[in-house]
This record gives sequence, C-alpha cells and structure tokens, in this order.
Amino acid sequence: MENCIFCKIAAGEIPSNKAYEDDKILAFHDINPQAPVHIVVIPKAHMAAGMNDINAGNADMIAHIFQCIPRIAAEAKLENGYRVVCNCGADAGQTVFHIHFHILGGKKLDEAMA
Ligand code: 5GP
Ligand code: ZN
Repeated sequence: MENCIFCKIAAGEIPSNKAYEDDKILAFHDINPQAPVHIVVIPKAHMAAGMNDINAGNADMIAHIFQCIPRIAAEAKLENGYRVVCNCGADAGQTVFHIHFHILGGKKLDEAMA
C-alpha cells in the first residue's frame, strides 16, 4: 500500500534491523524501543489496518504470526518471558495502520499494563 511505512519496510525500501523473516512475515527491531528488546512483527502484505480488521479471510496470517512469535522471542533470548502488544486505535496510541504485534522483553516489565 502506498505511503505505508511498514509496506516500505517489508519491501526493503526503508531499511530495518531484521529479527526474523519468512515468505509471509517480517520481524524487525523497533526504531524507538520501549524495552531492551522491542521487536515488531508484521505480515509482509498490507492485509489489515489493525486488530478491528482481523476476519476469517486473514485469520490464517494472524495465526502464522502467533505461531512464529515464540521462535522469534527465543532467538532474541527472551527466555525469562516477554509481552505481546497490539495497539488498536487512538486510545492505545496506534500510529501505523498495517497490522503489527510488538514483542517486548529483556527486563522485568512493569506489572501494570496500562
Ligand atoms: P504502533 O504505535 O502503531 O503500535 O507502533 C508502531 C511502531 O512502529 C512504533 O513503536 C514505532 O517506533 C515503530 N516505527 C515507526 N516507524 C518505524 C521505522 O521506520 N522503523 C522501525 N524499525 N520502526 C518504526
Ligand atoms: Zn502496509
């Protein structure tokens, strides 16, 4: 999709520090990390703007992302645990409208989630 920063990252037009890649998804280190390890996982195709756009037609891709997250976390040495976050809409502070999931870890995270 034009002018979508994550489509540009997926296409290699904007460089990223990759953590994992396969034919369907890409995981890269966040440019503005909120934890010692902060990885963003995206589908390579712009298939959904966010959480509210998940449906039967794209649920397989979401399932694939969630199947890969434990492997991505293990490769990032998050053996003590990690948090997965999906910001949805204005109140959650969503800024990029290409569905993505944050993996946060590398320290004892704040027990308060909000
Ligand atoms: P959101 O707030 O939409 O859930 O998350 C978007 C995330 O993308 C933010 O954490 C932001 O730091 C990250 N981000 C935005 N632009 C870039 C970029 O060009 N490169 C990387 N690596 N991360 C980005
Ligand atoms: Zn996109």
